[in-house]
Amino acid sequence: MSEVYRTFSRHSAEIWSENYRLDQGVIMAADAGSDDGTINPQYLYTIGHPHPETLGTNPTSVDLPRELGLPPVYRIDDGPVLEKIRDESLIYEYEGAYAGVYSPHQQPGSRAYGADNRLLMLGYVHEWFHVFQGGDQFSQIPSESGGTTDLSTYPREPADVHGLALVEDCVLAEQADTHEEARDLLRTFLAIRATRWQTQPGVRDKEASGEQMEGLGRYVDDLFARYAGYKVVYEDDQQRSAEPKPLFVSIAAGRSYNTGSAIGRLLQQATGNSEWRTLVASGLTPSEAAARLLGEPAGAERERLVEQAKTDHSYSEQLKAVENANFPDLEFPKLSF
Ligand SMILES: [Zn+2]
Repeated sequence: MSEVYRTFSRHSAEIWSENYRLDQGVIMAADAGSDDGTINPQYLYTIGHPHPETLGTNPTSVDLPRELGLPPVYRIDDGPVLEKIRDESLIYEYEGAYAGVYSPHQQPGSRAYGADNRLLMLGYVHEWFHVFQGGDQFSQIPSESGGTTDLSTYPREPADVHGLALVEDCVLAEQADTHEEARDLLRTFLAIRATRWQTQPGVRDKEASGEQMEGLGRYVDDLFARYAGYKVVYEDDQQRSAEPKPLFVSIAAGRSYNTGSAIGRLLQQATGNSEWRTLVASGLTPSEAAARLLGEPAGAERERLVEQAKTDHSYSEQLKAVENANFPDLEFPKLSF
């Protein structure tokens, strides 16, 4: 938590904006209280809460070294806030304070930051950014989060739209060394994206809302991790499996985290300023902001860029992987991911 506070106090403008300040909010961190995924916290810590006595009886001041740079911390062992956490999900707002549940036994996710596994604190950074996205700094965002894609309605066909999605991922995972390279990668991405959406408009809403919600959340995770001193590794999608169902889930739901984050990273690099953040805060999706600022390739240029990307990123193999997975025949139980 000290790392969160220190990093946001120094780098909030670079991470997102001066208005997204985790270090100036009130944070409550509750132990999950169990190892089996259920939430039954027995205590929590409040960090920077002005009136901890409103949260429970006998809040206990926690004596911490000043070097940690944290505002006053209290431990709460009972009271309404704990009851509420037991009834709620992992993270939410409670009377102006952000509450999160953590577990020291939590399974680390597979997203790596250099040699480290997923940082536990990224959950706080990421989920609170969603709270921020729902606040008055952002205009209305789509009600459907990219993280809750209904797999039963996501288009299974045609295969080439999904094969080209894998090429998109390869383009966005490339490293750009200059403004121009970042711009060129994004314009190639925009050419592929426009082609895919024209062929199968049914993937459009899911991808747009997924990148706007989860992609920007991941962008903030990555920036935070970088400014906290971790090496951030950008991959096309390290969780991707060639197994049919995981591949479909990745394409239908998971990849928006990476694509949205990568679009933001390349836009920042291509333009050298944060105008794109203003645009997405006003309601544009990351790819719409890229098209607005860099221009969307059309006609012969679009075709040329798509063909070049296919050649550069083994399109025939990507397409074969999709065809072998036979998406139209996959059966999923009727549930949302
Ligand atoms: Zn999220």
